[in-house]
Amino acid sequence: MKVRTRVAPSPTGDPHLGTAYVALFNWIFAKAKGGSFLLRIEDTDQARSSTESEIAIIEALKWLGLEWDEGPDLGGNVGPYRQSERKEIYRNYAEDLILKGKAFRCFCTPDRLDQLRKEQKSRKETSRYDGQCLKLSEEEVKSKVEAGESHVIRMVVPEVGDSIFNDILRGEIRIPFDQIDMQVLIKADGMPTYHMAVVVDDHLMEISHVIRGEEWINSVPKHILLYEYFGWQVPEFLHLSLLRNPDQSKLSKRKNPTSINFYRDSGYLPDALLNYLCSMGWTMPDERELYNLREIVEVFDESRLSMGGPIFDQKKLNWINGQYIRALGEEEFVKKLTNQIADPEKLKKIASLLIERTEKLSDVIGQADYILGDRRSLDATDFEFPSLEKDMVIRVLYLASRSLESAKHWDKDQIFQLFSLAAESLKIDLKKFMVPIFVAISGRSVSLPIFDSMAILGRDLSIDRMRSAMDCLGISGKMKKKLEKEIEKLPSVN
Ligand code: GLU
Repeated sequence: MKVRTRVAPSPTGDPHLGTAYVALFNWIFAKAKGGSFLLRIEDTDQARSSTESEIAIIEALKWLGLEWDEGPDLGGNVGPYRQSERKEIYRNYAEDLILKGKAFRCFCTPDRLDQLRKEQKSRKETSRYDGQCLKLSEEEVKSKVEAGESHVIRMVVPEVGDSIFNDILRGEIRIPFDQIDMQVLIKADGMPTYHMAVVVDDHLMEISHVIRGEEWINSVPKHILLYEYFGWQVPEFLHLSLLRNPDQSKLSKRKNPTSINFYRDSGYLPDALLNYLCSMGWTMPDERELYNLREIVEVFDESRLSMGGPIFDQKKLNWINGQYIRALGEEEFVKKLTNQIADPEKLKKIASLLIERTEKLSDVIGQADYILGDRRSLDATDFEFPSLEKDMVIRVLYLASRSLESAKHWDKDQIFQLFSLAAESLKIDLKKFMVPIFVAISGRSVSLPIFDSMAILGRDLSIDRMRSAMDCLGISGKMKKKLEKEIEKLPSVN
């Protein structure tokens, strides 16, 4: 059997470290077994997907060096590789399942389903479709369809028994069918759900090994049923453990920078980031900590993958990155440094801010140091202001960073708008609100125009600086809870 693996990100936000982690192991697995690695874009959620996010994901994976053999940008024999371009394929397969009696049209209204869910919840039952539309006769279905009644297509799920399957990492897994919902396959708008699209695509794209995050384990029974209904061969499954925050929760941007762009823009080396990501799910046979992709491919054996929830530790990543920097040699170091600090794209963005303020070219570093590199490190005394109490400083920083998470576009007008709303909700004027922001972002009380600076730094670096400022001040759990309530009231953040 030819080994074919894939990474299938949904383009609904910044390129996530989790995507890099899953892509990495798919890449290694394929290369180690002489197979192919594919990129598929899962953009069936049209409200949340964007081309901007797809481009960012592709660029981030390329920056890491995880190149694919087939994908939306490269093409290949089993394309298109973007699900929004495959709508008709899914629809036809769903109609096939109806003919086989393995799927049915469901005309239940959202109100009825809501009511059903509530009743099941009050009885402490798993929320599950009750099969009402399975009872409709063929004529009833026909007349409803002819009358243009809105409906979805759901899959049939057995009432009794267990779904038993094997996971390469976890061994045998057993999930009772009564916990499996009669999953919607095609939504009322004609778009497939993830479950329908993933099975059809993995089959048509001849994926031999489905390697993905553990959050999908509970979906496997639905997927296997679909493979069986179609009469297709079921691929092998390998569910990787999710990356976690230090408190064991799923790695989230609230607690750690999760965007690959953050690591690129902060000056991490792609090989070091890959090495670190790899070390979270894999140990080398000789247990050495530093290794490159080529070395893993040579010795890769899936039985050495680990199952424990790996905790993302930025300090450990920094140590690894430092090792890679030292291994560069001076010439390569200078090259990388020049790319990082004197990147012409970045300088072009700063030029308009600097040109009016520069008498000698050497003035530039003193003014733009915090954009060209990291800002100086801060402590609590940097946040003592005559005009603002410490409590208010914390509130400003917290609200500011949380509201930036909700920015729809990243530009200075949007930042200005979000901060104006946040200042209003704290009942202080914007000028006062900005006092701690200047320090958090630039390390100084006076800097280049701060909204422009943040626009150039990007969302991740800006939020990270505010978070590290909050760390200097310390924020209690109680205060956080109180502030989260305040955030709920902010119109633009929700
Ligand atoms: N689009 C899914 C995701 O979020 C892919 C899951 C899978 O690999 O099956 O990551």
